[in-house]
Amino acid sequence: MKTVDSISFAGQKALVRVDFNVPLDKATLAVTDDARIQAAIPTIQKILNDGGAVILMSHLGRPLKKLKEDGTVDVAKHTLHNVVNTVSAALGKPVQFASDCMGEEAATKAAALKPGEVLLLENLRFYKEEEKGDTAFAQKLASYGTIYVNDAFGTAHRAHASTAVIAQFFPQAKCFGYVMAKEVANAQKLMNNAERPFTAITGGAKVSDKLLILENLINTVDNLIIGGGMAYTFLKAMGYEIGSSLCEDDRLELCKQLMQKAESKGVQLLLPVDSVVADAFSNEANHKVCDNKQIEKGWMGLDIGPEATAAYAKVIAASKTILWNGPMGVFEMTNFENGTKGVANAVVAATQNGAFSLIGGGDSAAAVAQFGYQNQVSYVSTGGGALLEYFEGKVLPGIAAIEA
Ligand code: AMP
Repeated sequence: MKTVDSISFAGQKALVRVDFNVPLDKATLAVTDDARIQAAIPTIQKILNDGGAVILMSHLGRPLKKLKEDGTVDVAKHTLHNVVNTVSAALGKPVQFASDCMGEEAATKAAALKPGEVLLLENLRFYKEEEKGDTAFAQKLASYGTIYVNDAFGTAHRAHASTAVIAQFFPQAKCFGYVMAKEVANAQKLMNNAERPFTAITGGAKVSDKLLILENLINTVDNLIIGGGMAYTFLKAMGYEIGSSLCEDDRLELCKQLMQKAESKGVQLLLPVDSVVADAFSNEANHKVCDNKQIEKGWMGLDIGPEATAAYAKVIAASKTILWNGPMGVFEMTNFENGTKGVANAVVAATQNGAFSLIGGGDSAAAVAQFGYQNQVSYVSTGGGALLEYFEGKVLPGIAAIEA
């Protein structure tokens, strides 16, 4: 894998695609969580230490999709100027800003940039050409630098101008930053080189979002644990009464096929034997534990039950490789967090016993952080959608463009 470590940046201008799509305070527009900025610092620092200059490119939100009421772009909310001070504090040096990623100012500031200096370009997504993967737009960005570095795993599944198309202008001078390199290495390790038993834990609301990943993982894993709202479509497919639990009736047949495929491949597919059910989707609702064969009318499963949690913990404890994507229940509500917490405890314990555990981004990462376990698992991925697509078996344009 070609990373920033394989290049000397002395005298070069590195165009680095980072993921500075950070959450901002609604009122003050200050950065409320700088994790993504902190994650990019080692790559930037390596280039600066080599004697190179850095031109940072990123998106922030979806400015062209979230227009103001009068139909214009909400520049104040989406300008990357909002993050300049945070980047500067994280780097311990001033960061210049170009208020338009295409304009004369960007070209002039990029041309004048000296070794050791950092320039941040304005939000790439102010231009529709970014998400369209426009070649001329990518070429203009490319003209600012001499080496292209992709360190934005969160957008690696998109063939955008700055994440993939731009790489063609640097056939001999492109590489992964440290964030990307680590994400790719970990994902590859699981798909190609997992120590066994390999257990995948999938959860979350909808089975339709996870069908492709389930289908692909069945070819690789030894155990497939299913929890969360998506489990009830499987339970219904098995002929059980699921009350008013989440269900996607148009996926019943696919669930049956998946269960058959698992059986024919010798994969142990685990569904929850019990649930914590509630009479409304609320933390204040009446709730009780019940067997999943017969959930009463008017009750919905909002968490896996204690028996299911114990069964899952046992399988996880015996695993050497663990991939977790999606919560076991509505973990945002304290009455329905126990299943997710129990699974998180089991993953932490297995990790302490030498297993490799990778937590998918999005809600699973949020759950692990909620319980304070983010440093007790092997790796928490920064890319929700990108990681999912990787495990669906797709080629990610951001990775392919560097490897080409
Ligand atoms: P996803 O984005 O598909 O991974 O789904 C995550 C969301 O699924 C979280 O916000 C959970 O609250 C929700 N969820 C998990 N289990 C259930 C359930 N049994 N019923 C309804 N929602 C659930």
